[in-house]
Amino acid sequence: MNFPYLFSSISVRNMELRNRIVMTAMHLGYTPEGEVTDQLVDFYEARAKGGVGLIIVGGCPIDEYGGMAGMIGLNHDRFIPGLKRLTSAVQAHGAKIAAQLYQAGRYTHSAMIGGRKPFSASAVRSRLTGETPRALEIHEIPAVQDKFAEAALRAKEAGFDAVEILGSAGYLICQFLSPLTNKRDDEYGGPLENRMRFGLEVVQKVRSAVGPDYPILMRIAGNDFMEGSHTNREARIFASELEKVGVDLFNVTGGWHETRVPQLTMFVPRRAYVYLAQGIKSVVSVPVLASNRINDPAIGEEIIRNGEADLVTMARALLADPELPNKAKEGKAHLIYHCVACNQGCFDNIFQLRPASCLVNPRAGKEGELALEPAPKVKKVLVIGGGPAGMKAACIAAERGHHVILMERGDQLGGQILLNLQIPGRQEMLTVAKDLERNLRALGVDIRLHQEAERSIVEEIHPDAVVVATGAQPIRPDIPGAEGSNVVQAWEVLAGRRGVGGRIVIVGGNAVGLETALYLANVGTLSPDVLHFLVTNRAETWDFIEERLNKGNKEVIVVEMAGRMGQDIGLSSRWTVMAELRRLGVALMTATKAVSISEGGVEVEKADGKGFIKADSVVLAMGSRAEAKIADDIRDLVQEVYVIGDAKEPRNALEAIREGFIVGLNI
Ligand code: SF4
Repeated sequence: MNFPYLFSSISVRNMELRNRIVMTAMHLGYTPEGEVTDQLVDFYEARAKGGVGLIIVGGCPIDEYGGMAGMIGLNHDRFIPGLKRLTSAVQAHGAKIAAQLYQAGRYTHSAMIGGRKPFSASAVRSRLTGETPRALEIHEIPAVQDKFAEAALRAKEAGFDAVEILGSAGYLICQFLSPLTNKRDDEYGGPLENRMRFGLEVVQKVRSAVGPDYPILMRIAGNDFMEGSHTNREARIFASELEKVGVDLFNVTGGWHETRVPQLTMFVPRRAYVYLAQGIKSVVSVPVLASNRINDPAIGEEIIRNGEADLVTMARALLADPELPNKAKEGKAHLIYHCVACNQGCFDNIFQLRPASCLVNPRAGKEGELALEPAPKVKKVLVIGGGPAGMKAACIAAERGHHVILMERGDQLGGQILLNLQIPGRQEMLTVAKDLERNLRALGVDIRLHQEAERSIVEEIHPDAVVVATGAQPIRPDIPGAEGSNVVQAWEVLAGRRGVGGRIVIVGGNAVGLETALYLANVGTLSPDVLHFLVTNRAETWDFIEERLNKGNKEVIVVEMAGRMGQDIGLSSRWTVMAELRRLGVALMTATKAVSISEGGVEVEKADGKGFIKADSVVLAMGSRAEAKIADDIRDLVQEVYVIGDAKEPRNALEAIREGFIVGLNI
C-alpha cells in the first residue's frame, strides 16, 4: 500500500478513523447566518469523498459572546437540523466529523457581539482587537463553562462523531491559562495549577454532558510564542492534566494570534511545528495530532512512521485539493495540487469578511456551481502562454476532454511564478507551476516550449479555440535616466539575468519591489546549511552568527510614492514581509517619488522637498502592462479567442488561475 502509516486506521475512544489525515477546523465564511448552507455541505462532502479520515468543522461559537459573523452556529438548538444534514453528508462517504467548540474571549470584537464588551480571565487589552475585555466575575465562570457542555451535547445530537474543545491560539481557555492574560487572585489565577482550572473544568463538564464513550478532542498551543507566556514545558503539564479528566486526542498547533512568530505563511518551513506535537506526545498516552504546514502525504507518512505524532492535520492542503487522500492512496501523489501557504484565497479573504477560496483550487467553496462536466463537443484548443493562467486553462480544458496544445516561448512552464525561486520564503510558489505541469503531462496535453506565438503557427495548427495567456511586460517609466545602464527591471534581477551593485535603490514598494528587496538584502547572509554547520560545530560565536544572519553584503533602499508599502500583499503575509525587511536592514521610504535617475543615484521628491539617494544600481518595480497582441492578430482566423490573466490586465496569481479555470470550464 502507498503510505501505509498514513493510511492505517486509528481509534480515538470509540471513534474509528479510516486513516490519519485530519482536516482541522478553518473559518470558511460559508455560513453567513450561522445556519448550515448548501455551500458548506458541498464543500465538506467533496473532502469526505476525497478520502479524508476526520473533518473538524468550526469554530462553532458556544455562546453569543465569543464568536464572530459567519461562523457555524452551535449555540442554539435551531442549528441542529442543518448540522444533521452536514454530518450525514460527510459520514455517507466514510469520514468522521467533529465540531470545534469556540469561545474567543478577548479576541472577540465588541462590534461582532452587538457592542457588548467581550469577557476574559482578566481585563488585559487585546492587540488583535485593540479592545480591553472585562474580567469574568467568579460567580459567572460556571455558566460560561456550562455553555461548552451544552454545545457539546448539541453537537452529539446533531450526529457529530466527536467534539474538539478549542484551547489554543490565545482564545478563552488560553487566556485563563497564561500569566500574560490571567491576573486573577482567586482560585482561577496565580500558580499554573490554578490557571489550568478553567480549562480542566470545561473538559469535565463536557465529559459529564456527552457521556463516557464520546470522544473529546482538544486543540492546544504547543508553545504560545509570546514573551512571558507558556512554552512546550507548560503545555506538556497542561496536556497530562487534561488527559486525566478525559481528553482523548490532542491537536497541537503553534502560538497565539498575537504572536510575532509566523504560524501559517510561506516563511514557516514545512512541518516546522511537529516538534511541539512530539513534546506533547512524550507525556500523554492518547493520540496526538501534528498541525501547521503539512501539505504533502510524504511528510505525513514520515511524521507518523517516525513516531513524532499519530495523526496529521491537512486543512489548507484539502482546501487546495480535496482528492489529496485518494490520490495518495491510489499511487497518484504526483498529481496532487499542493497548498503553498500563500493565504491569498483563504485567510486573506476571511480577514476581509469574504468567503474562503483557494489560489490553486478555484472550485473551493463553489463545488455545487462549478462542476467539471465533459465538453459537449470535443475541440482543438490552443493555449498561448505557459504561466499559471494558461496552464490552468489547459488543464481544465483537457480534463473536460478537449485536445489541448500549450505553447510557451520560454524554456520552461511557470511564467512569472518562476521569479519566486530567488525570493526568501517564496520558493514554495514554484510548487504551483510544478503541480500544474505534472497534471498537464498526465492529461496528455501537447506542450511546446521555445515556441513564439505567431499568426502563421496558429494558421497551421488551425484550432477551434485559442486562449491567449501571454502575460505582461514590466513598465519602463517616463523618468529621465530610466534607460541608463545602471537601471534594471526587478524581473530581470529576480530571473538572474542582471546583477546589481552594492548599494541599490528600488523604485516601487509594492509586492514585486519588496520581494526584490528581500532577495537582494538576503544576498551574503548565512544559508540554512551553513548556519546548521556553524552552530552544530560551534565554529563561530553566536554574536557573529546573528550578525551574519541579519546582514547581507548589499545596502537596499526602497522608495514608494504612496504612503504605505506592500499595499498589494495580503494581510496575513504583509506583516511577515515587513518584519523580514526590517530584520535585514532594508530602508523603506514612503511618500517619496523618484523624479530622475543619474549614474550616481536617484533624485527624489518628498513633502519636505527634493533629495538625492546615492546608488550603484537602480531597480525598477513600477508595475506591468498587459501583452496580448497575438489576440488581435488571429481574431479573423479563430472563432473563439479568450484573453486571460495578466494578458487581460495585470493582477495577482489568484485572479490569473481563477480566470484560467473559468475559461477551461466554458470552452
Ligand atoms: Fe493554501 Fe494558498 Fe489555497 Fe490558502 S489559498 S489553501 S494558502 S494554496
